[in-house]
Amino acid sequence: MKKNQQRPKGYVYIIGAGPGDPDLLTLKAERALRASDVILYDDLVTSALVDRFEGLKIYTGKRKDSHHFEQDAINEEIVRHALRGKIVARLKGGDPFVFGRGGEEIDVLRSHRIDYEIIPGITAAHGASSYSEIPLTMRKVSSSVAFCTGHPVNKIQAPDADTLVYYMVASSVHEVLEAVLKKGRKESTKVAIVQNATRYNQQVFTGTIGEFLRRDRVAYSPALLIIGENINHFIEKNWFSRKKKVLVVGGEPKQFSERDYVVVNFPCRREEAAERAEIERCIEGVGEWPVIVFPNRFAVKYFFGYLMEFGRDVRHLSGARICTIGRPAATELQKFGILSDLALEPESPSAIGGLLREGGVSRQKVLLPGSNLVDSYLVNALEEEGSTVTPLSVYLHGKHEQEETVDLDFIDEIWFSSPSCVKNFSALYRSVPDRITVTGADSGTEAEFARIFGGKR
Ligand code: SAH
Repeated sequence: MKKNQQRPKGYVYIIGAGPGDPDLLTLKAERALRASDVILYDDLVTSALVDRFEGLKIYTGKRKDSHHFEQDAINEEIVRHALRGKIVARLKGGDPFVFGRGGEEIDVLRSHRIDYEIIPGITAAHGASSYSEIPLTMRKVSSSVAFCTGHPVNKIQAPDADTLVYYMVASSVHEVLEAVLKKGRKESTKVAIVQNATRYNQQVFTGTIGEFLRRDRVAYSPALLIIGENINHFIEKNWFSRKKKVLVVGGEPKQFSERDYVVVNFPCRREEAAERAEIERCIEGVGEWPVIVFPNRFAVKYFFGYLMEFGRDVRHLSGARICTIGRPAATELQKFGILSDLALEPESPSAIGGLLREGGVSRQKVLLPGSNLVDSYLVNALEEEGSTVTPLSVYLHGKHEQEETVDLDFIDEIWFSSPSCVKNFSALYRSVPDRITVTGADSGTEAEFARIFGGKR
């Protein structure tokens, strides 16, 4: 892009991701996510879903006790990317306008005059209702339904509707039930808790208000509480619980039909090996680059980790001019005994180009270590000055924040695509319960499983 050309203002999609089953994403949401440069996603959004898209992924997880991003910081991040001309997807669990803070986020976009649109999602109540076969309304039983919240406890309401659905109840079930009793409902009223609705580990607990009040801890997040006579309709063996849950480790096997199975994908991460080869190649030839630019402190940290791992040290960088962007990167560099030759502290991303020019970084071969998602702004700025840039991915953006492991208690079968996938799997799981049926794509894979897990089943 030419220097004086006006950058187009970005665009923001506020998207509902649905309650958990990645296939409950709408077609429209899928299209928008494919078109997005940046995807900011909540902790209720599974990584199986975001992994399908290419954009830069930023995890904004908001579990109560490990705040990753405060709401203000999330808003700032959305605005920052949009103002840089990016297409931003703000991906939220369920529906953005049902206890999803979508309203607050559009206020911020309106005030910055950033264009946006809203794509609804399947809210947890609808997912839980279908996947547990509890209708929310039923002729002659329930003719109204209310969505309520169990948080904060001093604001719990019990509206006058036949079916009540409570969100955010994991730690306030008792308080909700007390509030409902106070409004005149009987102790014998039916209650259901749907935990992890629409996911492979969905669990449904049923009873009466009286019974639940006598139990201690009854639910773990994410969970919904449903109250009303429609719960009489519930059956233990429903269409979803009947399906076998199969863990697929690598590959896409054909034999698990959608009708009989719920497939849980477990990525086998072979791609990391390919990246390592690239890193090794660049580090061995590191003398080829007269300039190395570190865009942040993670780039410094991981790059130097690999430098040592592949048998080099700082002396191998003595011929290069080293440039850092931002103070944290310069500070991180000092830990390795190097002072930055050019420590840039741009006030905004658009200032980087000018600072590089002033610092004399032009028409050079530049090595740019960073995350797997290259900052095109920086690459453009360097290229505009006639440099050739080699981006090198030394860490995976956002990945380390959300390493989920699958709970084998809910799994009926496991399928492995290759011996190396068995090996990767064994780094996370020491044993596999006997009741789980294990198969592999070929006899070599099954033999590898027997070799590693044989005695520990
Ligand atoms: N916007 C979301 C709700 C966010 S509030 C939606 O429309 O669904 C977070 C609450 O949603 C959780 O505390 C829980 O009560 C509920 N929730 C979200 N996903 C759920 C799931 N898979 N199973 C059960 N409850 C869920």
